[in-house]
Amino acid sequence: MRASQYFIPTLKEAPAEAEVPSHIFLIRAGYIRQLAAGLYEYLPLGFRVLKKIENIIRKYMDDAGALEVLLPILTPAELWQETGRWDVYGKELFRVEDRKGRLFALGPTHEETITDLVRKNIRSYKDLPKNFYQIQTKFRDEARPRYGLIRGREFLMKDAYSFDVSEEMAVKSYETMKETYRKIFDELGFDYLMVEADTGAIGGKFSHEFVVKVPNGEAHIVYCEKCGYAANIEAAKYEFELDKLPPEEEKPLEKVHTPSVSSVEDVSRFLGVDSKKIVKTLVYILDDGTAVAVLIRGDRELNETKLINYFNAIDAHLASSEELERLGIVEGFVGPIGLNIPVYADVSVKDLHNFVVGANEKDYHFINVNIPRDFKPVDFVDFSTAKEGDPCPVCKSPLKEATGLEVGHIFLLGTKYSESMKAYFVDKDGREKPIIMGCYGIGVSRLMAAAVEQNHDENGIIWPESIAPFKLHILALNIKDNQIKDIAEKIYDEAKKLGVEVLYDDRDISPGAKFKDADLIGIPYRVVVGKKVKEGKVEFQERKTGNKEEIEIDKINELLK
Ligand code: ATP
Ligand code: MG
Ligand code: MG
Ligand code: MG
Repeated sequence: MRASQYFIPTLKEAPAEAEVPSHIFLIRAGYIRQLAAGLYEYLPLGFRVLKKIENIIRKYMDDAGALEVLLPILTPAELWQETGRWDVYGKELFRVEDRKGRLFALGPTHEETITDLVRKNIRSYKDLPKNFYQIQTKFRDEARPRYGLIRGREFLMKDAYSFDVSEEMAVKSYETMKETYRKIFDELGFDYLMVEADTGAIGGKFSHEFVVKVPNGEAHIVYCEKCGYAANIEAAKYEFELDKLPPEEEKPLEKVHTPSVSSVEDVSRFLGVDSKKIVKTLVYILDDGTAVAVLIRGDRELNETKLINYFNAIDAHLASSEELERLGIVEGFVGPIGLNIPVYADVSVKDLHNFVVGANEKDYHFINVNIPRDFKPVDFVDFSTAKEGDPCPVCKSPLKEATGLEVGHIFLLGTKYSESMKAYFVDKDGREKPIIMGCYGIGVSRLMAAAVEQNHDENGIIWPESIAPFKLHILALNIKDNQIKDIAEKIYDEAKKLGVEVLYDDRDISPGAKFKDADLIGIPYRVVVGKKVKEGKVEFQERKTGNKEEIEIDKINELLK
């Protein structure tokens, strides 16, 4: 590509609102321009980088057996109403109306759309498993669009959705995506962490985020260098907020006769209550012999894992039958009401209403238990305040704190969408069952910014080779000098012949301006054609290290290969 015919409008100054390096450099180096708040135009250079990122993602998604589709951006309101998200999504959802008054949303994510496709076209276990993905523009009316491509209102996402016949198979699909994401972020050359995350508004069983480490990033994480434990600090806080809504009136505590029921499922069936309303109790014995009851809400597997890790880490063990008996606790589904042992409540059960717990008496449960009315948690493990230096919940070594950018997020959804939208399949045994789902996002355009955040210096961008817009930058320092021009043209032709992606700065501007632009644009390798051509030499430079090397012109082919 000849720079003289290309379009790279570089700027000396970044716009005033650009605060972070990726925003500053992507604009200054001519990769993007802003149209309005949170809306960006990709110029030719930026578009090339975006395509490279897309293609790396596509390669590994295809390898993993995922099938690429393209779904409409405009999604009917009825689908969102079926799952309740028309209301839940709030102001972030862009809503539009057609000429007949029918409402639509500009897709911020596509669980509803893909579930609709699947319920209409998949009937049998023989059609499963399936994983569909797309790379497509998403819309979110973010409260604070900022940092350029990092938080746009219109942005490119890779979103994938898996459909399985059983929980076990769904976990397999989830694990496959986890591995696929690792391959993608490794190839992109990122320094990143995979962290345990909250399931937030999407709901579901468990989830992980992929966070690229950058200073002052919006994602706050703690991690352990020793055992690899890593979690999102924001997660627990967010969940706590959700759990406080909607406020429910406290009903009077009631003891109910529940003969021959013990499991959570039994209780929920017998009492006709949502299993989410059941507080599971685990009794742990600490190393000094004291017992603590640990309350876990019925559906909080993520927090349960964390709590179990925590108690394992402090060498507490689950009470054996003998220990329970000694404490006067009925085995099975027990509740510590009336028991004289401390209660640890996980953050998600700190302030909950009208729950069910065991009455600690055979064949009885309490309903309408209210926390903290009926339980006063003496203490709780609050992961939302975990900070640098706290003991790792798994191995006790001091935790490290870091900030980063969330670039990927995977969820095991379970049946949240398939149940509410009736996406059933007929299993081998002839029975209809809801399909088990997972969903997997990658912020494609945010990745472009993340790459710059991790790879730049004071002069500009330093692209990792895998996503650089071009691999080689040829600078003809004085294009009016025929000898320089001839050699530069020759090297340019050779590079193209060899299939090297090359940008050739053939503009009639000063050498200083060419070097400044080249540093800003950040192409990994550079051949500088200048006065030394008289001695049969050019200079080969590496953007990342700044290394310079004089090379005989006739040896340049070797290098290009
Ligand atoms: P965040 O916490 O940053 O708001 P999110 O958790 O709302 O992101 P997801 O719903 O998990 O985002 O979407 C999948 C991915 O899409 C995110 O991991 C992120 O990389 C990307 N993404 C989300 N919102 C934006 C945005 N406004 N601009 C650019 N990329 C985004
Ligand atoms: Mg968000
Ligand atoms: Mg998030
Ligand atoms: Mg997320």
